[in-house]
Amino acid sequence: MKLEIVQAGDPVLRQMSRPLSADEITSTEIQQTIADMLETLRLAPGVGLAAPQIGLGVRMAIIEDREQYHSAWSAEQLRARGRVPVAFHVLINPELEIAENSEVEFFEGCLSVGGYTAEVPRHRHVRVCYLDEHGEPKSIEAEGWYARILQHEIDHLNGMLYIDRMNPRTFMTVKNYVDRWRSAEDEAHRIFRS
Ligand code: ZN
Repeated sequence: MKLEIVQAGDPVLRQMSRPLSADEITSTEIQQTIADMLETLRLAPGVGLAAPQIGLGVRMAIIEDREQYHSAWSAEQLRARGRVPVAFHVLINPELEIAENSEVEFFEGCLSVGGYTAEVPRHRHVRVCYLDEHGEPKSIEAEGWYARILQHEIDHLNGMLYIDRMNPRTFMTVKNYVDRWRSAEDEAHRIFRS
C-alpha cells in the first residue's frame, strides 16, 4: 500500500525517533510497514525513506538506489558523486560512525521537502552498524553517494532535515536546478556559495 509522505512542518520530522525492540522488528505490523515503505519509495521515486517520513517515529529506514535512476546523470557526474547502484535494504536502530573526517558537497533533496534542493556537505566515508529486518546485526562501510544517503536517512531518525546542514544560499527549486544548474554545477557552486 502506498503511504503518504509527510512534509516539512509535520512535528514527527523534528522528533527523536525511538528504537525498535526485537519483538517489534519481526512483528507483522513492522514487516508490512517495510513492504509499504518500499512501494512508496519506488513510486516517489527516491533512494531512501525513513519511518518518520511516513509519520512513524521509530528508528527504521530503507535504502535502494536503482541503476535506472542514474540515467539523468553523465558518467562524469556519477563518478564525481561516487554513485553506484545500492540494493534494497532495511536499517533498524542504526549507529553512524564517521570513518574519515573529510566532507564533500553536492546538491541533494528530500521527499519531505518536496520540490526543493540545496548543496549539502556530507562526510565522504562512514560506517553504520544496524539490525536488518530479521533483527540480525549488520554493518556497512560506505563511501560516496551511498554514504550521503545513509547520513541523510539517519538524520531523519534524529529529527534533522538536510536544510539544517545545507549551504543556505544554494537552496532552490528542483525545476531551476534541473533546467539551469545541473549541467553547470561548478558554476552554481561559484555563484551561490561565494
Ligand atoms: Zn529525506
